[in-house]
Amino acid sequence: MTDRQPMVAGNWKLNGTRASAVALADSVARGLASDPARARCVLCPSFVHLDLVHEALAGSDVALGGQDCSATDEGAYTGEVSAAMLGESGCTHVIVGHSERRALFAETSETVAIKALAVQAAGLTPILCVGETLAEREAGRVDEVVGEQLDALLASSADGRGVGAFGNLIVAYEPVWAIGTGKTASPDEAQAVHRMIRERVAAHDRATADALVILYGGSVKPDNAATLFGQADIDGGLVGGAALDADAFLAICRATRQAA
Ligand code: PEP
Repeated sequence: MTDRQPMVAGNWKLNGTRASAVALADSVARGLASDPARARCVLCPSFVHLDLVHEALAGSDVALGGQDCSATDEGAYTGEVSAAMLGESGCTHVIVGHSERRALFAETSETVAIKALAVQAAGLTPILCVGETLAEREAGRVDEVVGEQLDALLASSADGRGVGAFGNLIVAYEPVWAIGTGKTASPDEAQAVHRMIRERVAAHDRATADALVILYGGSVKPDNAATLFGQADIDGGLVGGAALDADAFLAICRATRQAA
């Protein structure tokens, strides 16, 4: 890791009740208050738990994030939640393009790029997820697939910013085959893709690339976090399953200290 401030984000997905969400947020906030991590920590509960979790995190350094948002600002889009609404609920970050959104809800890289820009327009920071399937990895297509996912935003001319969009954005490299499977990319495999991502952005602007925080996601656990976070281009993690257990999540947050 370098001078980039590391981050650990917890993606709670479709889990929790009002009571368990508050209890988990409270345990994370109290745990970090008594034993701070080097990382910035962000919790991403379900939309309907955001207000409650925001209250539970009040007075702590733990930030709040949404798991997704609409590509549009307002209007007749039943069931959608805009980035501005998430900001009003206390979010500072929003995950966009998670592989579950891409695979289960048919989100294209173009849609994901529009969502990332919508998050930025609302004054929040997108966490842009990219990653390949096992079949794509085995076919030797990792750089091509991840590159295409990044290029959709790099090429975005919606506001004429291109690489500028990476100035207020976090990338999460999440190999699809490692999400929720217990399989983790080896530190070397993950580092190689993280480096490729940074170089892809650097081809447009070196300073933006050097400042870009790139998280690793895919079965990050307390026992593998420090080794992963110790890689030069891995700046923390996006954590699913282990984020539902306060002790495991806190241990992963603290692993950023060992990797410093
Ligand atoms: C995720 O869903 O973003 C994720 C990384 O999940 P897990 O940690 O459970 O693999």
